[in-house]
Amino acid sequence: MSATETMILPENLPSKGGPAQALLTVKNLRKYFPVRGGILGRTRAMVQAVDGVSFSVKKGETLGIVGESGCGKSTTARLLIGLTEKDDGEIIFDGQGLGDALTLRDLRRGVQMVFQDSYASLNPRLTIEESIAFGARVQGLDDPIGRAHGLMARVGLDPARFAQRYPHEVSGGQRQRINIARALAMSPRLVILDEAVSALDKSVEAQVLNLLADLREEFGLTYIFISHDLNVVRYISDRILVMYLGEVVEVGPVDAIWSQQAHPYTRSLFSAMPSMDPDNRTKTPPLSGDPPNPINPPSGCRFHTRCRFADIVCKARAPQLLELPGAPGHFAACHLHDLGSGHPKAGKESLG
Ligand code: SF4
Repeated sequence: MSATETMILPENLPSKGGPAQALLTVKNLRKYFPVRGGILGRTRAMVQAVDGVSFSVKKGETLGIVGESGCGKSTTARLLIGLTEKDDGEIIFDGQGLGDALTLRDLRRGVQMVFQDSYASLNPRLTIEESIAFGARVQGLDDPIGRAHGLMARVGLDPARFAQRYPHEVSGGQRQRINIARALAMSPRLVILDEAVSALDKSVEAQVLNLLADLREEFGLTYIFISHDLNVVRYISDRILVMYLGEVVEVGPVDAIWSQQAHPYTRSLFSAMPSMDPDNRTKTPPLSGDPPNPINPPSGCRFHTRCRFADIVCKARAPQLLELPGAPGHFAACHLHDLGSGHPKAGKESLG
């Protein structure tokens, strides 16, 4: 074990249970945002940003979360670290429920986040050294500056060259390395990467992805990786979770979803991926129409207004997230996969 690793490893948040225990479990997470109007600023409606989301993340794995803009993936991330207050639901981290044995301060120490905008994430008045050391200093961790220098070296930034620089004096890729180092300075167990490589050039993106993969192995980290880029998600993730209009519609091992998407929405996301093969160009739009208004989402299955398999039962009843027969760990919320749903094509339709 290197000196840097010894220093960074989360000695202040000991792991509970074995590796099989989920590090994070989320049950029925819900967040509605009020839309206010009029002179008195009364609540006119509620935007259903996250509605009954449940999932878990095992220790050491990377869960990729995908979906269109506005599907609730970033709101879910903010709820997980308490940047946005949840309306309902449970967050259980390393066996302890938030609000019971686990305080928000503990959670923010164990879960760190890296955002897309590397510049806005940093205080422009702090040197890089101070930015990385700040959180560790606030939490009272030992030797925050030594920690910062060790982490800078680990993410590929020479402390002798970069420690006294300011965020505007480095490139976007270097700033994102600073943000990663800053997250690690808090000795997290779980790191949430919210479109963390989306704003980078492709060559820099590949370097940062490889760095993240190395850090995960080296420090035994667990990641939630949010992105709209399915190829990037495939590269780094063990499992993929697909969200649509505030709900989870499919979740499963990355290879299983890559080879056979079970939900029509996931299928259309994959169909929309650009292809380098001129014989394999997308000729018709894989998904018609805009996402429905989250203030007044469609009844039953929220995807029924855009789904080519929609039947009357889809409008009447919301599908449950069910494990697919013969596909352990692969779940989809679609009446096509529920033999008791009453959908005329249940169990018969192959999306592939
Ligand atoms: Fe389409 Fe119905 Fe399945 Fe929803 S439940 S995805 S509308 S087939």
